[in-house]
Amino acid sequence: MAKCVRCGKEFDVDDSREEFNDEFDGDVDYDEEYAGEVCANCAIPDTESNINAGAAIDMMNGEIAYDADHVERWL
Ligand SMILES: [Zn+2]
Repeated sequence: MAKCVRCGKEFDVDDSREEFNDEFDGDVDYDEEYAGEVCANCAIPDTESNINAGAAIDMMNGEIAYDADHVERWL
């Protein structure tokens, strides 16, 4: 068992990788981002907020359609 560096709980790296990769459909790679150091319960919301913050920045830059609620929530 590995110990999560965020929440301190023990977790199974294989299970976390599977859960994470299912959630993001391979768009984000668990091993590349977290390399078995962070459990899926921490890694998934963390990645979601990174993706949403990235989208908010793209909206500010006019690269994708602007959504004021999204920008307010994630920036
Ligand atoms: Zn954790």
